[in-house]
Amino acid sequence: MRTLERYAAPRALGEALELLRAGDVTIVAGGTDVMPQSHSGKVQFGRTLLNVRRIPELAGIALEGGTVRIGALTTITALLESGLVRERLPILAEAADHFASEQVRNGATVGGNICNASPAGDMLVPLIVLDATIVLAAKPNGSIETRSLPLREFLTGPGRTRRAPHELLTAVSVPLPARGFVSRFYKHGTRPALDISAISIGIGGVKRDDRLESVRVVFGAVAPTPIRAHATERVLEGRRLDAATIEAAAEAAHDEVRPISDLRASAWYRQELVRNMTRRLLEDVARG
Ligand SMILES: Cc1cc2nc3c(=O)[nH]c(=O)nc-3n(C[C@H](O)[C@H](O)[C@H](O)COP(=O)(O)OP(=O)(O)OC[C@H]3O[C@@H](n4cnc5c(N)ncnc54)[C@H](O)[C@@H]3O)c2cc1C
Repeated sequence: MRTLERYAAPRALGEALELLRAGDVTIVAGGTDVMPQSHSGKVQFGRTLLNVRRIPELAGIALEGGTVRIGALTTITALLESGLVRERLPILAEAADHFASEQVRNGATVGGNICNASPAGDMLVPLIVLDATIVLAAKPNGSIETRSLPLREFLTGPGRTRRAPHELLTAVSVPLPARGFVSRFYKHGTRPALDISAISIGIGGVKRDDRLESVRVVFGAVAPTPIRAHATERVLEGRRLDAATIEAAAEAAHDEVRPISDLRASAWYRQELVRNMTRRLLEDVARG
């Protein structure tokens, strides 16, 4: 068994990236995933434990041109308290409102939720609906380099991402939605807020008259990563959001997810939830 040799809490991004380049590092932000995982034996710490909470470059929520930059260290509470998020990205605030307890929300970060890459991570579905891009930084040759990629491509499986071991997630970038963009989020857990999602659904699109355009439908906890529901999107795209379209979309949603059965819910129950809640969310979009 390896032993922890070093604890570091740098105040500069460059310093953190140098530690990461040296290798065998476990990153900790809020610790609400990694600490329980370490106690249960699911995760073994590397030789260095790197606390990133003091790095200012990872903090803050800001409007930069047509994009909202959300620093990796942004807590779920900070999302909920942000006027910019509530007004311009309400689906993110809605998901934050269904996230754990106040105590967990105060520590849990957006970056940690993304890098933990749980199929049920509650920030992932709304961020994919919003077409978010993640930003990674590294310092391979003495200077800081960054790269960006769409969140939906970053997530590759339960607990797996395209982050290289020497990279740090610095931020998530969300393009401001177009005028007329509407969105809804739904999470089903047996105990609202304190449970991991049995399923979650995010729907977004630009509403013109009674039609939805540029539709995005995303399901969480029904596959190894959150998924875009392309067949359901095709049923909805540009069509009048009437009872027949909504019913066809709910059926398409039911047919295109292939969930598993586990302790939280059976596959059959998850599929029924997907159908019924897709219908309900779309009826809500049609009404208002
Ligand atoms: C009681 C309880 C209730 C919970 N309820 C919910 C819930 O309702 N919904 C939900 O989605 N989750 C829930 N969680 C899980 C957890 O709180 C979230 O996933 C949280 O967002 C993780 O953030 P963190 O900062 O605590 O991550 P940490 O535990 O610090 O890190 C998580 C992972 O990400 C890595 N990491 C963190 N930051 C970075 C970075 N900047 N760059 C690269 N890697 C990084 C870490 O190395 C680790 O692998 C719950 C947890 C608990 C204990």
